[in-house]
Amino acid sequence: MKIRNLAALALGLALASCSGETQSPAEPRQPGPPPVQVNVPAFNPDSAYRYVAEQVAFGPRVPNTPAHDSCAAYLAAKLASFGAEVVVQRATVQAWDGTPLRIQNIVGQFQPEKASRLLLFAHWDTRPYADEDADASRRQEPILGANDGASGVGVLLEMARLLGQTPTSLGVDIIFFDAEDYGNPTASDMESWCLGSAHWARQPHKAGYRARNGILLDMVGGHGATFTQESYSLEYAPDMVRKFWRAASDLGYSGYFPVVETRFVGIDDHVPVSEIAGIPSINIIQFNPENGGFGSFWHTHDDDMDAVSKTTLEAVGRSLARVVYSEQ
Ligand SMILES: [Zn+2]
Repeated sequence: MKIRNLAALALGLALASCSGETQSPAEPRQPGPPPVQVNVPAFNPDSAYRYVAEQVAFGPRVPNTPAHDSCAAYLAAKLASFGAEVVVQRATVQAWDGTPLRIQNIVGQFQPEKASRLLLFAHWDTRPYADEDADASRRQEPILGANDGASGVGVLLEMARLLGQTPTSLGVDIIFFDAEDYGNPTASDMESWCLGSAHWARQPHKAGYRARNGILLDMVGGHGATFTQESYSLEYAPDMVRKFWRAASDLGYSGYFPVVETRFVGIDDHVPVSEIAGIPSINIIQFNPENGGFGSFWHTHDDDMDAVSKTTLEAVGRSLARVVYSEQ
């Protein structure tokens, strides 16, 4: 994911600082009506964490590398093992520097016969450059992307395990998008990001594909992460933003998901999915106003397993499961 520009970031920070204090994790839920009873299967944070570690064990997952191919095979097999009907969408797209990238968008469909659907997605590729790393000599090396990439996929793999065991009212599709993070490091060239999701949005795996809403997870494993309400999400799908934050609050996770209008503007896979495919989507993404954004691991070599917290994966995963199993 990429912040649109520094002015937008500054605006986000200014709004954040005006909007009151954020809370520490594990505070009680926000005041309001009592939580609604929903039967939700238990999200297992140990499984989610293991799925993150298994991706990271392949090394950086950069298109056109053997590790990328191996991880793609792992992800497709994992979804199939949970009972999903899997489609692997292969394509060649062009990177900002002209490199043809062989990409794979990996789709797992649960209850594909149902017309009413929900789309869950994350990017599975990792950034080919550590352009934010403090050590300038290592900025050309690819990152491990434990949080930026593997965390969202890990939570969705655990979600897939639940979906295979306990069907939902709606059909659910999980898509792991490729080439989200291959963006141009030297220019604010927004079209060089989100290549896989933009390709899918123009040519979905099924002609005429529709879903009621989309939910994107990106960088959902940070220690003490704060997830704020991102501007595009509020614009595309304000009701889903409210549902998600309410679910988190019902579970006691208001510290991770403060219900404040902290906003920032960022380019991520929910933009093409909403704007090109027409599926109103939200982005669950770490953004800590106090420390200037995504966290110190972002696009650096510190984005390894030490950057991933099992309790944060659990907060996001349980909130997501509550939303998914509440949809009628
Ligand atoms: Zn990134």
